Amino acid sequence: MTLFDLTGKTALVTGASGGIGQAIAIGFAEAGANVIGVASSGCDATVAAIAAAGGNAKQIKADLSDESRLEAVVEEALGMYGAIDILVNNAGMIRRTPAAEHARADWHAVIALNLNSLFFLSQLVGRHMIERGSGKIINIASMLSFQGGINVPGYTASKHGVAGVTKALANEWAGKGVQVNAIAPGYIETNNTAPIVADEKRYNSILERIPAGRWGSPQDLKGPAVFLASSASDYLNGHVLCVDGGWMAR
Ligand code: NAP
Repeated sequence: MTLFDLTGKTALVTGASGGIGQAIAIGFAEAGANVIGVASSGCDATVAAIAAAGGNAKQIKADLSDESRLEAVVEEALGMYGAIDILVNNAGMIRRTPAAEHARADWHAVIALNLNSLFFLSQLVGRHMIERGSGKIINIASMLSFQGGINVPGYTASKHGVAGVTKALANEWAGKGVQVNAIAPGYIETNNTAPIVADEKRYNSILERIPAGRWGSPQDLKGPAVFLASSASDYLNGHVLCVDGGWMAR
């Protein structure tokens, strides 16, 4: 399976302390990559899990909503294994209140993390990838990159933006050896969706619409992420890959 082999590659994964980011980080390590996890609370559990399985992982503790921290995060990451071959912009947050009452502070917080940090990190790491003539950037989008959602206007705006930025960067960088793509997860059980999972009625109404007949688990994102990070996807650019149990096909 050399097409999917990530041996010798270094991946920077944001939001790797738990949920989808943690699963992707572990999947990359299983495929042979060195992994650097970033989260505001650090990534102790992820680093320990990778090390216990014989892989290589390090972490950076940083609040990525703070634009002024981003240069230092990328510099520190570059110093850890000498290069960044793969960037996964996964860190994200959601604030749930109806649009009419949606606080400006919530709007700004969600856009700052989900969209601004994703673009600024892509710029910083992308410059380094362009210089080397190769690299893979994977942005974590959402079903709300396509749909409106309920009570999450800032999140929906940010995730539509993620799909747009993915295509914009792919257009500019595909010819420079840098593939930029996105994964749009369906409904995955993590901290992000815990309030919906706890609401039995809402949980079941979503479940009824998923052709696969189950909510997703973070493990479901491992394979698609390894594919987009590996040379198996070298001619794939600007694609938003739905990993949703068929939700969008319904
Ligand atoms: P999660 O379990 O809440 O994970 C969020 C990750 O982001 C955590 O590692 C968190 O770590 C990190 N993070 C949050 N704020 C941060 C900050 N200011 N700076 C740095 N890191 C920060 O949720 P998840 O479901 O795995 O979400 C991961 C991504 O998938 C998000 O972009 C989300 O929008 C997207 N997504 C999720 C679903 C789903 O159904 N779960 C569906 C579509 C898209 P710390 O708290 O330690 O900082």
